[in-house]
Amino acid sequence: MDQKKVAFVTGGSRGIGAAIVRRLAKDGFHVVAVARSADKLSEVCAQVKDAGGSAEALACDIADSQALAGAIEKIAEAHGRLDVLVNNAGITRDGLILRMEDEDFDQVINTNLKSAFVAIRTAARPMMRTKGGRIINISSVAGVAGNAGQANYAASKAGLIGLSKSVAKELAGKNITCNCVAPGFITTDMTDVLNDQIKDTVKGHIPMKRFGVPDEIAAAVSFLAGADSSYVTGQVICVDGGMVM
Ligand code: NAP
Repeated sequence: MDQKKVAFVTGGSRGIGAAIVRRLAKDGFHVVAVARSADKLSEVCAQVKDAGGSAEALACDIADSQALAGAIEKIAEAHGRLDVLVNNAGITRDGLILRMEDEDFDQVINTNLKSAFVAIRTAARPMMRTKGGRIINISSVAGVAGNAGQANYAASKAGLIGLSKSVAKELAGKNITCNCVAPGFITTDMTDVLNDQIKDTVKGHIPMKRFGVPDEIAAAVSFLAGADSSYVTGQVICVDGGMVM
C-alpha cells in the first residue's frame, strides 16, 4: 500500500486545476491529474516531479460517467486508497435564457454537476474503507449569486453546493468531509475569453479591484484537504476578493 495519501483532481491540465495539482503535490499527496488532453496533463505532472512531488496523468472525459467511475475505481485499487477527491473540471456555454439551447444546458450540467455526483458516489466506497476522506467541489460565485447569461452554469454550480451539503450530512459519520470552494473571477483560459471592457467592468464590482490567481484557489483547497480542516464540512468558502459577502 502507498505511504502517500492519494488525491484525484479533475481538470488538472491547466488553470485552477493545474494549480491544485501542484499545491497538493507540494503538500505531500500523490496526485492523479485528470483531463481530456493527455499532453497538457503530462506537462503538469512533469513540473510536479521536477519540483520533487509525485503525480500521474490520467486522460478521461468526465462527462462519460462510466469512464469516470472506472478511472476512480482503478486508481483506488492500484494505490490501495483514495483520500481526496477534487471535482474541479468545468465548462461554460454562455447565453441568454431565451436563446439557450437544450444542448448547452445539458452539456454544462453533465460536465459540471453530474460528473461530481458520479465521482463522489464512486470515491465514497474506498474512502469508507480507509475510514476517512475529503471531497472538495469547485463551485463559483455564479452558483451563490447567479449571473446573467449563465443560467446553465450557475445552475450547475448552485447544484454543486446542494450536492455538497447533502453529501456532508450523509458521510459525516464516516469521517468524510465535503465542502465547496466558490471562486470569483480568476485569471485562466476560462476568463481570458472576456474582452478588456468586460474585464474592467467586472473589476469594478470586485471590492479588491483585481482578478484572483489560480494559486489563491489552490490554497483554499489545500486547507480543505489537510489536517487543519478536520471539523469543517458542508461549507462554501468564497475566494472572490469580496464579491459575495
Ligand atoms: P479552464 O482553464 O477552462 O480549465 C478547465 C479544466 O477542466 C481543464 O483542465 C480541462 O481540460 C478540464 N475539462 C473540461 N471539460 C472536461 C471534461 N469533459 N473531462 C475532463 N476534463 C475536462 O478552467 P478554470 O478557469 O481553471 O476553472 C476550473 C474550475 O473552476 C471550473 O469548474 C470553473 O467552473 C471554476 N471556476 C472558475 C472561475 C474562473 O474565473 N476561472 C471562477 C469560478 C469558478 P481538457 O480541456 O483537456 O479536458
